[in-house]
Amino acid sequence: MLNIQRFHIKIALVCSLFLIFIISIGCIENSEGNTTASISINFESGSIGQVHQISDTEFKLALADDNDNPELPSHWRNWWYVSIKNLSVDQVTIIHLSNRGWPYYYLPVYSYDNKNWNRFSENEVFKNPENELIIEKQFEFPTVWIARFYPYTYSDLQSYLQTISDNPFIDIGIAGTTQEDYPIHLITVTDFDSPDSEKKRIWMHARSHPAEICPSFLIEGLINYLLTDTQKTQNILKKFIFNIVPMHNVDGVIAGNYRTTTQNENLEVMWFFDIEDPVFLTDEAPKEVRVLHQAILELIQTGPPIDIALNLHASNSEPGIKPFFYAHFGTQALGYNEQEASLWKKQLQFIDRIAMHYGADMLEPAPDEGGDSFATKFYPESWWWHNFQDQVMAITIETTYGQAGYSPSWVEPDDYREMGKAVALAIRDYYDEDSPRVRSATKHKIEHRKTKLKYPELYPPHDPNELKE
Ligand SMILES: [Zn+2]
Repeated sequence: MLNIQRFHIKIALVCSLFLIFIISIGCIENSEGNTTASISINFESGSIGQVHQISDTEFKLALADDNDNPELPSHWRNWWYVSIKNLSVDQVTIIHLSNRGWPYYYLPVYSYDNKNWNRFSENEVFKNPENELIIEKQFEFPTVWIARFYPYTYSDLQSYLQTISDNPFIDIGIAGTTQEDYPIHLITVTDFDSPDSEKKRIWMHARSHPAEICPSFLIEGLINYLLTDTQKTQNILKKFIFNIVPMHNVDGVIAGNYRTTTQNENLEVMWFFDIEDPVFLTDEAPKEVRVLHQAILELIQTGPPIDIALNLHASNSEPGIKPFFYAHFGTQALGYNEQEASLWKKQLQFIDRIAMHYGADMLEPAPDEGGDSFATKFYPESWWWHNFQDQVMAITIETTYGQAGYSPSWVEPDDYREMGKAVALAIRDYYDEDSPRVRSATKHKIEHRKTKLKYPELYPPHDPNELKE
């Protein structure tokens, strides 16, 4: 399912740049007389901005603005995904990548079939003083796809959902549609034969920022684990209902955007609740936000309240940064009131439970204080706080794209699937603080909050905007 209009704009852009190139230097043919190497983004989630072809083996690429909108902030660039055809397999291809939005070094991924992906190695990717990435590689086949990170498109989601749709513990529904009329899936995982009245409800949504892909693998891992049909997972599904929106900003994903819808909206900061009656959103809230909001209200009206709300993202950062969390407020000793301190405590407890299952050394340490700026903004957590205070443990999980704790390796999709399993077990144990399992883990807990933050200048409360805007 392709966003044809959007692709046409991209095709037009790339074609016009190629035309300029062809007019200026003429059509290059390699020594075998094959057709000139060419770059395309004519596929789902494809994206690149300016393309300058120096030769058949050297390309200068610049990242695109979402929707080719130059008004968007300069750091709203991250995602790129291209295919190159007719590459020489006898020579090294050089690709320069500029206009990257974020200055950090990373290893992109490549594929010869747009399906099976590999990371480039560290001796194939360099960063120059202008913060451009330079890839140098002799490819094995003349057609290659290259992307910022392992792609996970809307079609990938649909393929995945097909593999689990017959499972008796899952229901795949549609919460509503996007502005371009694509379905927004709402997955329910639970033991449908156990009474809902005895269950806790867990809400989870991902891909509000379309190119933040890691959470898609996390969600697959969480669901796959819950469906393993063991005594352990049966017990979890008797006690919990998981309501999961795996891909919120479907339009943005299909269009190959990094941060916005095709209407340039950053859904993450547009949960515009009515100040007088915050359970309602105002008409300014984009359709995709209203779809989630409506689904949440319906779930609450027809069954158990929501107890945990997870908002899944991926942060551009230095390669060594591990997944981290946006916990809010702090202790009463720091001046927060009882409810604020209670939410803070619940959030830290939840982070501790993830650390228990995923490894304390696999997460950035939580800060000493989370700050309260979120309460005056329009994040999903702002809406949760104004309506449910500490009754809903709402928190953003930021995964990262780099080594993410696996140094010297770089994080792989299966690593985030493992984290998904850890999140499922963390949710179980969050409600089981008095069990011997949790008490023994707490006793031996690594004091990870006392270690020095590796991300201090950008970690809340030091960054008033929490990097979300
Ligand atoms: Zn994000």
